[in-house]
Amino acid sequence: MSTIFGKIIKRELPAEIVFENDRIIAIKDKYPAAPVHLLIMPKKEIKDIQSASKEDLTLISECITVAQELAKKFNVQDGYRLITNNGPTAGQTIYHLHFHLVGGRQLGALG
Ligand code: AMP
Repeated sequence: MSTIFGKIIKRELPAEIVFENDRIIAIKDKYPAAPVHLLIMPKKEIKDIQSASKEDLTLISECITVAQELAKKFNVQDGYRLITNNGPTAGQTIYHLHFHLVGGRQLGALG
């Protein structure tokens, strides 16, 4: 069954899209934890980083390139975090691999 992000990719749910190509989409987080909080993900339904195969690494590296471009576009290139939560203990709530790009304020220690 499709996740919320799968539905956003299929345009069954709305989102603020900040980047899109055939393979990758990036949206604004609906409940931002910082002034800049974007979610960058492959359109392919990969459950989490732990499930990613070697073939998926190309998509993941493209996500990082998109993150670099968006960091510049949103003017946080000098300080941001790029995070993926893997599994419930890490706080993952949507099981479609995504990277949080968080910045625009002083960030505290990870915990
Ligand atoms: P995670 O907890 O790492 O799986 O991240 C899921 C993220 O998706 C959270 O930061 C949520 O705030 C965000 N989120 C939940 N629903 C939506 C939505 N409809 N559109 C955009 N972001 C969402």
